Amino acid sequence: MPNLNHYKKKRHLVWREKVLKKAGGLCEECRRYGRLDADGLPVRATVAHHKKPIDEYPELAYAVSNGQALCAMCHNRKHPEKGRKH
Ligand SMILES: [Zn+2]
Ligand SMILES: [Zn+2]
Repeated sequence: MPNLNHYKKKRHLVWREKVLKKAGGLCEECRRYGRLDADGLPVRATVAHHKKPIDEYPELAYAVSNGQALCAMCHNRKHPEKGRKH
């Protein structure tokens, strides 16, 4: 299990902000597939996901290039049986 405190650390929050900002605050997966929210607007991202899992690649924990901005729904799909690990 990754260190749960990781997500409360300031450094993580800064990384998350950069990842979301890089994606323009929108979900990268929904944008790729042209999905819209209930109001017909682009789906906002709420989660910064690690493309390469940080328990295997701890050195990429704060690499913006390893971050992907996702909405909660798309993020859940990225972790089918692993629970809510980022
Ligand atoms: Zn999405
Ligand atoms: Zn994730």
